Order: sequence, then structure tokens, then C-alpha cells
Amino acid sequence: MNDTSEIFDILVVGGGVNGVGIARDAVGRGLKTVLCEKDDLAQGTSSRSGKLVHGGLRYLEYYEFRLVREALTEREVLMDAAPHIIWPMRFVLPHSPEQRPAWLVRLGLFLYDHLGGRRKLPGTRSLNLLTAPEGEAIKQQYSRAFEYSDCWVDDARLVVLNALDAKERGATILPRTAATSIRREDGLWIATLTAKDGTTRTVWARAVVNAAGPWVENIVRNVARQNSTKRVRLVKGSHIVTKKFWEGNQAYLFQNTDKRVIFVNPYQGDLTLIGTTDIPYDGDADDVAVEGSEIDYLLKAVNRYTKTQLKPEDVLYSFSGVRPLLEDDADNPSAVTRDYVFEIDDVGGKAPMLSIYGGKITTYRELAERGLDRMEGYFPEMKKAWTARVPLPGGDMPGADFDRFERDLRSRHPFLPPEIAHHYARLYGTRTERLLGGAKDMAGLGRHFGGRLYEAEVRYLMVEEWAQTPEDVLYRRTKQHLHMTQAEIEAFEDWMDRERGVLAA
Ligand SMILES: Cc1cc2nc3c(=O)[nH]c(=O)nc-3n(C[C@H](O)[C@H](O)[C@H](O)COP(=O)(O)OP(=O)(O)OC[C@H]3O[C@@H](n4cnc5c(N)ncnc54)[C@H](O)[C@@H]3O)c2cc1C
Repeated sequence: MNDTSEIFDILVVGGGVNGVGIARDAVGRGLKTVLCEKDDLAQGTSSRSGKLVHGGLRYLEYYEFRLVREALTEREVLMDAAPHIIWPMRFVLPHSPEQRPAWLVRLGLFLYDHLGGRRKLPGTRSLNLLTAPEGEAIKQQYSRAFEYSDCWVDDARLVVLNALDAKERGATILPRTAATSIRREDGLWIATLTAKDGTTRTVWARAVVNAAGPWVENIVRNVARQNSTKRVRLVKGSHIVTKKFWEGNQAYLFQNTDKRVIFVNPYQGDLTLIGTTDIPYDGDADDVAVEGSEIDYLLKAVNRYTKTQLKPEDVLYSFSGVRPLLEDDADNPSAVTRDYVFEIDDVGGKAPMLSIYGGKITTYRELAERGLDRMEGYFPEMKKAWTARVPLPGGDMPGADFDRFERDLRSRHPFLPPEIAHHYARLYGTRTERLLGGAKDMAGLGRHFGGRLYEAEVRYLMVEEWAQTPEDVLYRRTKQHLHMTQAEIEAFEDWMDRERGVLAA
């Protein structure tokens, strides 16, 4: 290795939320950074979450006060950084005396309101479900409820926006590129990165960040051939999507008979996202899939509370992910800590590997900040933490005021139907102008594929956001598969395959 310009400061393995968060922070602190992701960005756990930026009300029952406080504080930091993809949501929690006494729920919500320095989000209130509009969808036997605040996040977009910002600050982002071998030599790491088409490249790095989520142990033991004192516990969680069956923007939180809680969230306008399950998992994290018993479990928990009785045939779509939790030997998968720890290993003060065990979408930014602070000794020139104050791409709206931004967007482009303007505003924020590329009418957006998907958006995603396959566009970046017919999806797949051929030629 003669050419020192080829040496990166940090190689990040894993393009989930934690990996891209670290890459963004690192490059902004002046470190030369490369990130490799074996599949699409966010294709692992980070596109399969419950999509909440939340303190985690139920973690209070496990006395995780520090985790809850930090996560609560982080909600408002992230809302300011990305008001297009992160927004406040109200959660209605019907009182169910067999599950938890009212005083306990009230105490939990009091702590929830006050632990995290809430400034923008409204606090808790009590509801009479027999008279409040929020009670209309709920069975008459549930007469009381509490309503509190948390935030919604488009998880897959959070990942892509962090990667985009990292790239624009100078990081090298390599999706569909797996780290297949990493070893230390002369105080550096040498990594072999293998792309999906089989081509390999070698990179040198002063440090490795192992952000492989459910695969973290595989990287340590099999790719880097190191030892570790820590383990991950894989816990599967599944979600189902149905039509929305109530009026209003509020979400519901139902206490189940096994003491778990089930979220019922408004999703994609007229749909509902229901989850999740908590099932020990020892298979391959790439093969995770929803089981019929999980669908039955979720429907039963919801039907206990709602006048609408959902049936398995109402399920339009489902997805599963595995939580990469830090093994703490808890008996119950729901009780395993949602906190994270780092493991740092080096040789003679050089070539460190920082491995991440655990974590949440909610804490990704703060995790990245702390992880890099832990690397200060290896990079004395590294600049200070910065990400708490800087918006993500598209999030630079005056006063982080999304509603005003959307109104202005619509008045600047009156030809856009309101639902298309809303779709672009939510996904791309201030970057919508780049996507529109000067279009003056709907014809300027090109071919319509179904749902809210037009050619201009797809081209933007292919050029700017690493979208290479129809799944990258439909399932992760736009979710338009939920709004398209099977025939429309197939026609889109054919179109994109042809386009990729043209682009590659
Ligand atoms: C059902 C469910 C619900 C959840 N709900 C919430 C929620 O509402 N709010 C919240 O805050 N958190 C939630 N979480 C937790 C959150 O989703 C995860 O903690 C987070 O996404 C983990 O991110 P990560 O970057 O560590 O892992 P991942 O997103 O899995 O990223 C790791 C990446 O590493 C890549 N990789 C693996 N091996 C290699 C290799 N050799 N080379 C290159 N790349 C490699 C993988 O392909 C993967 O993309 C939920 C999780 C689940 C499963």
C-alpha cells in the first residue's frame, strides 16, 4: 500500500440507520469515510421497524429511565432536523383495568411528559371515549383513555437521507457491496469489499465501525475473525397493513392480555400499520418472514378493542424484521434491553474496531455521536459533535414548519394535485424542486406508473438516491407498492429493467 490517498479513516460496515448515522457524523468531523452495505440501504432492520421516534413508554416498566429520557429528548432534535419525514403523532391508550391500574398508567405518562425536556410536543390528557370523537371506533366497554405524544418517522428515508448527506459531505457510499474479509496489517485494516456482480475492491482504513445490526457477530467472528465478549439476541417483530378504519390522525395503543402493547397507526393516508410481535429468532436474518400465528395474534389484540372486527383477509401487506438486541439473558424477549453498547478492540492503540450491539431508530444520531466520541483517542484531529443542529437533506425549512412549507410548495406549483404535492413534500422536503426539475405541468413529470408514482420521481431516485431495483423504489423509498395494482407493479418492473439496461449500456 503506497498511495496514502487510498487510506480511509473509517470503514463503516452496514447501511442501516446506525451505519449511515456514523458515516454522516464522521465525514462532518473531517474523517475520510467509506460505508459498504451488502444490499440496498435500509434493507435490513431499518426499513422494517414500527416507525416511531419514541421514548418507549413500556420501557419505564423495566426501569430503563436513562434510555427513555435520552430517547424522549431526541424526539425534538430529530423533528427539527427532518420535519418532512418525522412528525408528531397523538396516541390514544384506552384504559383496560385488567392489564394495568389507571394510577400506574397515569404515573408512567407523567414521567413520560416530564423526563425528556419536552418543548414542542403537547402533553398527556384524559379522554372520555363515550363522548370524544377518538372513542367512536372503540367498543363501548372502554370508556376512559389517556392520550399522549410521540413522533412518526419514515425509517427507510431516514437512512437514505443520512447516506445522502454523508455523500454530499464527501463520504463514499457503496450499496450492494458486502465486506467479505477484514484483517489488520501494519496498524491498518485491509478490507475486501465484494459487489453484487462479483467484482471486488480493496480498501484500507485506520478504523472499522461494525454497524451490521443483526449481523454484528458475523462480522466480528467470521469476516474479521476476532473474538467478542458480547452477543446479540435476535427478536423477530412483524407488522400488518390494513385499510384505515377510524376518523382522525390519532394512533391507538392497545394493551394486550400478555402485558404487551400493540400499536395501531395511521399509515400512508388511508391505511393502518399494526404491530408488533416479539418472537425469539434463531434463523438467518435475511430470511425473516411473517407467520400466520402472528397475524392472528395482532388481529385478536386489536379486535378486543375496536368495533370494526378485522379478519385475516383484510390484511393487505405484512413485513417482518429482526431486532438486533444486546443479549442480557432476560427470560422474556419483550424484557431484553432496547439500549445499546459499544465494544472497542484495538492492537497497540491502533486499528480499532467499534462494534455496535443493540440500539433503536430513535437513538441512532446520539449513538453515532457517542460512538465517534469514543474514537477521539484514535483521531485527535477529529472535530466536535455537530449533528444535533444541522438539518438532513430536504429538512431545511424555516422554523421546521412543514405545513407552511407544503402550502408554499403548492402555491409555487399549482399544477400538482394536492396528494402528489403532499407526497413529494413528505418524502423530499425542500429537495422537491430538484425532483421536479422545472416541470410546469403533469406531462413534465413523465409517465405515470400508478399510485402517486411518476417517472420524474423514479429518475430522481435512480440518480440521487442509489435506487437500482423496482423494490428499492416501491418498497423502501416511496411505499407506492401499497397504492398500485399487481399489473401496474409488473409494468413498472419491466420499465425499470429496461431503463437500467439503457443506463448501463
Ligand atoms: C419489528 C421492529 C419494530 C421496531 N420498532 C422501532 C420503533 O418504532 N422505533 C425505534 O426507534 N426502533 C424500532 N426498532 C428498532 C430499530 O429498527 C433497529 O434498532 C435499527 O433499525 C437497527 O439498525 P442497524 O443499523 O443497527 O441495523 P440494520 O438496519 O439491520 O442495518 C445493518 C445493515 O448491515 C448490513 N450488513 C450485514 N452484513 C454486512 C456485510 N458483511 N457487509 C456489508 N453490509 C452488511 C445489512 O444488510 C443491514 O442493512 C424496531 C425493530 C423491529 C425489528
